[in-house]
Amino acid sequence: MSDKPSFLDSLNDALDSVTRFFYPRRCPFCGVGLGKELVCDSCRAALPRCDTQIRGAYYGVVSAPLWYTGPVRKALMDLKFRRRMGGLDLFGSLMAACAKQWYDGAFDAVTWVPVSAKRLRKRGFDQSRLLAASLCVDWHVMPQETLRKVVDNPPQSSLRGTERRRANVLGTYRPVRPEAIRGRRFLLVDDLMTSGATLGECVRVLREAGAADVVCLTLAITPRE
Ligand SMILES: [Zn+2]
Repeated sequence: MSDKPSFLDSLNDALDSVTRFFYPRRCPFCGVGLGKELVCDSCRAALPRCDTQIRGAYYGVVSAPLWYTGPVRKALMDLKFRRRMGGLDLFGSLMAACAKQWYDGAFDAVTWVPVSAKRLRKRGFDQSRLLAASLCVDWHVMPQETLRKVVDNPPQSSLRGTERRRANVLGTYRPVRPEAIRGRRFLLVDDLMTSGATLGECVRVLREAGAADVVCLTLAITPRE
């Protein structure tokens, strides 16, 4: 199962986005025209709602509004690989509601799991930073950069098993301005949680830099097989 769209897909999408550029908001899942709402009624009803918390030894606690299946998987790939930003407002509002439900009063600042500089150059944006910024809109705050990815390791999706994924991310993140991390409680945002190895490593680095607490929030969680 490849995450990358084919050349023809990309070409079609590029033409598509040109013709759509000046038109009103569309449902990020089915493309139907919308008014002020962020998703159409039938796609909203069909969303694979997760609204749950998972606990693990390394990352502590992670919550997400959605499961990484069907339409959510496609929408996240559209965002990451086809530069389709139409779902950002919806994703941000779902994540903000999820954070309020599970973590109300439990954090002082929002931060994110960054991509490497090389990936950033290639992709042109950092999807988790965009998600963090989107969920912060209603709170009138700006996400705080706390981590930098200093090693461009192989993608986690290319590796099987939690132990291999943990080894792959070990030492790949460095804290940015530890004095601004010390004593603060963070909401750590990422797009997707699969094994939790990446979140676990980021939580470890933030705690080592003196963070008082870290709770994790992703847009989606991969269901266990
Ligand atoms: Zn729809």
